Amino acid sequence: MIVVGAGPAGAVAATLLARAGARVRLIDRARFPRDKLCGDTMNPGTLAALRRLGMAGPIEARGLRVDGMVVTGERGVRVVCRYPRDLYGRALVRRELDAALVEQALAAGARFEPQTTVRRAIVGQGRSPRVAGVVVGVYGSEREMRSRVVIAADGRHSTLTFGLGLARHPARPRRWAVGAYFDNVSGLTAFGEMHVRRGRYIGVALVPGGLANVCLVKPWDLAAGDIPLRDAQAALRRELTRDDALAERFARARLTVPPVVLGPLAVEVDQTAPDGLLLAGDAAGFIDPMTGDGLRFAVCGAELAARSALQALDQGWDGVHQRLAALRRREFAAKWRFNRTLRSLVASPPAVLAAGAVASVAPSVLRRMVGFAGDCGFTD
Ligand SMILES: Cc1cc2nc3c(=O)[nH]c(=O)nc-3n(C[C@H](O)[C@H](O)[C@H](O)COP(=O)(O)OP(=O)(O)OC[C@H]3O[C@@H](n4cnc5c(N)ncnc54)[C@H](O)[C@@H]3O)c2cc1C
Repeated sequence: MIVVGAGPAGAVAATLLARAGARVRLIDRARFPRDKLCGDTMNPGTLAALRRLGMAGPIEARGLRVDGMVVTGERGVRVVCRYPRDLYGRALVRRELDAALVEQALAAGARFEPQTTVRRAIVGQGRSPRVAGVVVGVYGSEREMRSRVVIAADGRHSTLTFGLGLARHPARPRRWAVGAYFDNVSGLTAFGEMHVRRGRYIGVALVPGGLANVCLVKPWDLAAGDIPLRDAQAALRRELTRDDALAERFARARLTVPPVVLGPLAVEVDQTAPDGLLLAGDAAGFIDPMTGDGLRFAVCGAELAARSALQALDQGWDGVHQRLAALRRREFAAKWRFNRTLRSLVASPPAVLAAGAVASVAPSVLRRMVGFAGDCGFTD
């Protein structure tokens, strides 16, 4: 089997397939370890999924504990939301997290081929199109890799799903993320931070080494005075310095690496792939980073895709996609709805103000939402 992309989805799928005795090639265009723009926090649900799969060890050992979220809104709203029942998440930079997961795939017996870029799927034309492998580019030449099953885990802008016409960027919403690491940020704690403002939000998290991971997500409107994204550093600085809750805390902060820009963020993906191909992680559908759910979707979605791949090998492709789609709906549908609702709320300035007002008089509503976002259930 071929797994394209060695992020969390690909590494988890490759590990589970190799453990089940399949011959697995895990391909990535990058050389590992590699960086990846992300808030770097795993919520309790992600950790629980990794523990259940026996893959959490290195993350527990190296990641910082995250005890909950601090959410702030306009007009000084600030609510501390501790995860219930002593649950916690972990913060670990993706460079380390992803490398640790790939190591586990190798230990399970998968073969890893870094610096190998997939250009397109090989599509056989029988009664209906069927993916029969991938074409990869290595050092300027192309070669075919054939396989009965290909798992596309190649991320938000998946070469495979975009190439096959299964994915597209919708006209709306059109938002971009700018991510960076700072040192000398004051007031960092074991709580992740989500600063929700009209039309935008800023996530802040302490990561190992004492740095602050900062991710800004917003629409970019040059006509409205936004600094062009090519000067992402100035754009990020401006958002931080004009923010009442953050300006002082970042007054002496220094960027440790140039910011990374990603966007437009939203991607729509059809849930029915051709036979021969299964989707996992962001390649199966990207959700807004605001709820910090992407990694759980990647881990759990990879587990479902790996199970489907084994079924397809054993019994053929009849009904495999339908069963996978039903399992994904059962696992993720409530979160998809929750995520879409929050995304619309942030896009509406009056709704942000109204939500802030509700949060200041009834903070337990927000605490329950953070518990749900972190997969702790709706608890106070
Ligand atoms: C701003 C921001 C903040 C976020 N913060 C959080 C957070 O705090 N917590 C959380 O849970 N989630 C967060 N997410 C979401 C999370 O980052 C993703 O959901 C997660 O990375 C998905 O993992 P993946 O394995 O599907 O894809 P990726 O991690 O993107 O991995 C895809 C891999 O495929 C490889 N690849 C791509 N194209 C090719 C190709 N053509 N050939 C070969 N290899 C290829 C890439 O090199 C990469 O290694 C955030 C996302 C954003 C944008």
